[in-house]
Amino acid sequence: MVTPYILVAEDEDALATLLQYNLDKEGYRVTVAADGEEALTQVDEQLPDLILLDWMLPKISGIEVCRRLRSRAETRNVPILMLTARGEESDRIRGLDTGADDYVVKPFSMTELTARIRAVLRRIRPGLADDRLSHGDIVVDRVAHRVKRDGKEIHLGPTEFRLLDYLMQHPGRVFSREQLLDAVWGSDVYVEARTVDVHIGRLRKALGAEEVNPIRTVRSAGYSLDMEG
Ligand code: CA
Repeated sequence: MVTPYILVAEDEDALATLLQYNLDKEGYRVTVAADGEEALTQVDEQLPDLILLDWMLPKISGIEVCRRLRSRAETRNVPILMLTARGEESDRIRGLDTGADDYVVKPFSMTELTARIRAVLRRIRPGLADDRLSHGDIVVDRVAHRVKRDGKEIHLGPTEFRLLDYLMQHPGRVFSREQLLDAVWGSDVYVEARTVDVHIGRLRKALGAEEVNPIRTVRSAGYSLDMEG
């Protein structure tokens, strides 16, 4: 599976860190550029699948970065989502004649932002913004929040759903209980590591793991989505 690469060009440290953390959790690969010059350098190093571009950036403004990217053949089609503060939202950006594909006004919720990112990726790179994840006979519909195994509907609680969704994004990779806690429960929540075991147990049961268990327990390491297990 291809991991979409997002460049975050944002000079507010706290926001950049928050974006990086949350987008990483959503399964994107993320790098941060703190000014317009660095953003252009990073684009030259590796073309992102999407750029989150702050309107007001030091050295070279977001709007100028956007203009330069649109003027070069190699970067002309890279999806750009502009971040603007309220008040900066001018008629230009509303009409998107800046060349951006979409814009989000600060402050925004992560849910809103990730939905807009998925929408832009889906429109421009349909293969990247998969609304469906599948592994073996398990299919996760991430929009309808439905899971099927071998064509049969599986009912999961919200935690089990997030757990399965996360494992499905990285099939075969082994995660420690702490990594799963961080990714699924969030690092700011205090939950004991054995809670993970409880929810993995429920998830296995719901998936009918007594026949073919899709989630492998890796001794002293953690868990992995692995059909061979
Ligand atoms: Ca700024």
